[in-house]
Amino acid sequence: IIRIENVNKWYGQFQVLTDINLDVAPGERIVVCGPSGSGKSTLIRCINRLEVVQQGRITVDGIALTDGGKAGAKQVDAVRQEVGMVFQQFNLFPHMTVLQNCTLAPMRSRGLSQAEADEIAMKYLKRVRIPEQALKYPSQLSGGQQQRVAIARALCMTPKIMLFDEPTSALDPEMVKEVLDTMITLAEDGMTMLCVTHEMGFARSVADRVIFMADGRIIEQAPPQDFFAAPKHEKTRQFLGQIL
Ligand code: ATP
Ligand code: MG
Repeated sequence: IIRIENVNKWYGQFQVLTDINLDVAPGERIVVCGPSGSGKSTLIRCINRLEVVQQGRITVDGIALTDGGKAGAKQVDAVRQEVGMVFQQFNLFPHMTVLQNCTLAPMRSRGLSQAEADEIAMKYLKRVRIPEQALKYPSQLSGGQQQRVAIARALCMTPKIMLFDEPTSALDPEMVKEVLDTMITLAEDGMTMLCVTHEMGFARSVADRVIFMADGRIIEQAPPQDFFAAPKHEKTRQFLGQIL
């Protein structure tokens, strides 16, 4: 459902991604890990065109996003309709209620009525187990609750793919589990997921494949049991030594 071919990307003189090749199958769950600055965020941001690549091809559900860096606004819109993203900082609109945060995009870009959008929003707020918070403002919620709203908001666009960029790393430890549990539920429902995370317990129990990046390259990838039991590359062993 995602195909990344020979992608290279630079910030000015600095090459942030080098020779990236990655195919993601429908329903596949991938965890991306690696040291700070290795290009993890940049890579997943390229998938919904928050970042542009200078070389290579990215195709999402048959829609070509890049041809030497140029993609039409139409393609970019089409891809963003299919790809939901959740960030480390929850990025909720502070002046809108939880429900309004969830209904805004479906009403604007899918043309749903208020009633239709409300119904879908409540369905996903139930799925992330906070329907009772619908009329509160983000500042009235805990960090874990806010992140679950961010997940529900993304789901309201009924994406085919969900991207997560360190969704739990801004949370207090006691709130990490409730967000991971929400992600596990999504995975069980068959969502295609790419998650940048250092939660190795999540990687072990949920991922079909773990990808390790260093210096802008994919250094190693394997199913979690192999990845953790027998990392092949010295840099992977160093990294795992530091975080496990
Ligand atoms: P972290 O684990 O700290 O989130 P990361 O693996 O997600 O790191 P990226 O955010 O993708 O890393 O950044 C990769 C490299 O690109 C870093 O060296 C960073 O300083 C650089 N970089 C990121 N964004 C920009 C930008 N907009 N302009 C210039 N350099 C950037
Ligand atoms: Mg990052």
